[in-house]
Amino acid sequence: MAEFVDLRSDTVTQPSAGMRAAMASALVGDDVYGEDPTVNALEASVAALFGHEAALFAPTGSMANQIAIQLSVPPGEELLCDGDAHVVTYEIGAAAAIGGVSTRTWTPVGGDIDPDVVIDMIRPAGYHAVPTRAIAVEQTHNRGGGGVIPLSTLETLRAASSAAGVALHCDGARIWHAHVADGVPLRTYGALFDTLSVCLSKGLGAPVGSLVVGSAEKIERARVIRKRMGGGMRQAGVLAAAGAYALEHNIDRLAQDHAKAARLAEALAPFGVVAGAVRTNLVPLDLRKSPLDAHTLAAAARERGVLVSVLGPNVARLVTHFDVDDAAIDRAVDVLPKIFRD
Ligand SMILES: *Cc1c(COP(=O)(O)O)cnc(C)c1O
Repeated sequence: MAEFVDLRSDTVTQPSAGMRAAMASALVGDDVYGEDPTVNALEASVAALFGHEAALFAPTGSMANQIAIQLSVPPGEELLCDGDAHVVTYEIGAAAAIGGVSTRTWTPVGGDIDPDVVIDMIRPAGYHAVPTRAIAVEQTHNRGGGGVIPLSTLETLRAASSAAGVALHCDGARIWHAHVADGVPLRTYGALFDTLSVCLSKGLGAPVGSLVVGSAEKIERARVIRKRMGGGMRQAGVLAAAGAYALEHNIDRLAQDHAKAARLAEALAPFGVVAGAVRTNLVPLDLRKSPLDAHTLAAAARERGVLVSVLGPNVARLVTHFDVDDAAIDRAVDVLPKIFRD
């Protein structure tokens, strides 16, 4: 694929030579027995990054989210999230199918949230209605175009959910990007949530791996839920080593990915297709007013060596990441406007 500029997703990255070396030399043990020193070290360091007591390594962000949801919401009770949230859009109904969890959604407002709308939706326990047990937010927001929820909004939501006795979960697959874009310390984010899920395999460039972060009591229960879901891994230290390497080397450089996304957005601005302000590494394209639909755009771009994601008939997305260097962005900035011009 070297001949393509791959802007489909930040999941397409190849592990770097340094990362592969770290994986090859990792000390490992059986993690189901709790004996993998590399996994244990990664879990401890990610918990500390967010100021929580514990963390649990999981194979995917979807599993990490679903473990967190099951921690806070018993079967037949309710999770609130927005209608574009990853947990209800891209996890194939797992909350219902696996957790028996009922979900109710608010109308998405890009990557942001109106806390009053969310707070009004909370229902107390009783005999008649489904009780709300948790609220999930996404930072940054994937379908919301990489939007960053302001800290003050999250603080308002935290205060209200605490008052209502409702848990707050953060789908933080790209929380690293929010941290870099807004300069909010990871510990500050950590303090706002009962549980977080974070991904090492998106912008950070590891091949596999996510973590659930929370209290020691929660993570002990999370370990059981992970095993039940088939996520107990054995010598997982080879994977955790990639994650530890990514955390050490690849957070600060996300600013470069944000700058590259801004260049793409600027190049496409004249065509009125960039949906919202581009703050992080995602460039959402709304093609409803464009003569091109998403499939036509993707096919034309592919012919010219640039790969673009199709998220809907009139929705496309560009994503910058580790393996898209400045020369690749130069090429995309040359090619994509030509397609809209033609
Ligand atoms: C990618 C992603 C996840 C997790 O996806 P997996 O493919 O299961 O690792 C979760 N939430 C968001 C917002 C994501 O973008």
